[in-house]
Amino acid sequence: MALYLYNTLGRTLQEFKPITHGKVGMYACGPTVYTFAHIGNLRTFIFEDILRRTMEHLGYEVTHVMNITDVGHLTDDADQGEDKMTRSAREKKMSVWEIAEFYTQAFLNDMKELNLNSPTVICKATDHIDDMIELIKKLEKKGYTYRAGGNIYFDVERFPDYGKLALLDKQELKAGARIQVDEYKRNPRDFVLWFTRSKFDHQAMMWDSPWGRGYPGWHIECSAMSMKYLGEQFDIHCGAIDLVPVHHTNEIAQSEAATGKKWVNYWVHGEFLLMGEDKMAKSAGNFITLKDLKEEGFDPLDYRYFCLGGHYRVQLQFSREALKAARAARLHLTERVKEIRERTSPSELSEIGEKGKSYIDSFRGNLSHDLNIPRCLSDLWGVVKDVELSDAEKLAIILDMDRVLGLRMEEAKREELDEAQLQLIRDREEARRRKDFVRADAMREELKKQGIILEDTPDGTRWKKIE
Ligand code: AMP
Ligand code: ZN
Repeated sequence: MALYLYNTLGRTLQEFKPITHGKVGMYACGPTVYTFAHIGNLRTFIFEDILRRTMEHLGYEVTHVMNITDVGHLTDDADQGEDKMTRSAREKKMSVWEIAEFYTQAFLNDMKELNLNSPTVICKATDHIDDMIELIKKLEKKGYTYRAGGNIYFDVERFPDYGKLALLDKQELKAGARIQVDEYKRNPRDFVLWFTRSKFDHQAMMWDSPWGRGYPGWHIECSAMSMKYLGEQFDIHCGAIDLVPVHHTNEIAQSEAATGKKWVNYWVHGEFLLMGEDKMAKSAGNFITLKDLKEEGFDPLDYRYFCLGGHYRVQLQFSREALKAARAARLHLTERVKEIRERTSPSELSEIGEKGKSYIDSFRGNLSHDLNIPRCLSDLWGVVKDVELSDAEKLAIILDMDRVLGLRMEEAKREELDEAQLQLIRDREEARRRKDFVRADAMREELKKQGIILEDTPDGTRWKKIE
């Protein structure tokens, strides 16, 4: 089945055609590790996990590369502000290296708890300084750079395609009408590739380079690492929508200037998580972490389920009420899957009939149409509630769909009851058949004391352990 993705480059829905048959190279901009990721950041990583799982579901072999931005970079995209890592280190009385390591581990733990498949390659910026230096040297040799005020800048006017992703206005670019924030820039859009003159005192992370001791700009790290692991041309680059105008625009400029080739074919961007009317942002201080949600009693998968309820290209408003609704739905789903599994003998063959196949087709169709996960969730619920499908069919289809949704349905299993408890349930059913309700009720009470509650349904008695 053909996969259609909305490509920011061109602003259209396009059929996905990989560079190499059956394979996908995908790069995702990773976290900046000077503090905990917030749940807005995590929405983006959940979307990327779904994208990768979708492609795998459709039969592609995916190489998923994600970086860790552990080089201190600056508080805004325009190369100014205070170094975030340095500030965090000062506040927490730790070294910048310790800060980076601590928050990297915290992020990897969040990923695990959200059931995000680990990227094929996770690369730290600080381990790839040499690759960045090589790339800057290449750009320098081709005449795309200039040195001013001790820093090496990328000269955007040397790159005619600059701004094609963000549809930047060429006139405006030429006029340089914006407020000049850095007196050394020839054009306000120019950006730093290598800093030797930090604007900050006590710059802690520094490396030797042909231009002097210093540190790389933010954008160069993603170009250098993605090309190292995926080659000079690859299929998909993703991130959230805020990266389009500066970070991804600059990544394209420096990568294509260095190689002389088109760099990435599909740019796939996720929309924001909002807190009220505003984007959840570290700088705005209106953020919540996964740890906060856990402390409030939520399971990380409740948040995953909540995110699946919104299309990745639509803004999603966070609220406790909506998260509670997601939790209720997820728990209900888990309970239903446990019941289905309980009624399915492990040896039962799951021959999927026409009705079952129609759900699978619908699910794949929704996935392939630019990852319509809210509709995929409806397909899943359709299977759960369908009265014509056998339990074995249902279980097989649900587990297959969950390979994309990642709600850990494979773990939705009942705790086993012991033989005495099962016998008590059977005896009670027998008593009910004899209409000996006094005895049946006494047995129900006995089971309740053992932490088991019963529900009588037209299909027989179901049991549940009290949590
Ligand atoms: P950062 O750690 O700040 O570099 O951000 C990591 C990822 O989260 C990037 O792809 C950002 O674009 C993305 N991001 C930041 N804020 C939000 C938000 N409110 N909703 C969704 N994604 C976000
Ligand atoms: Zn990046």
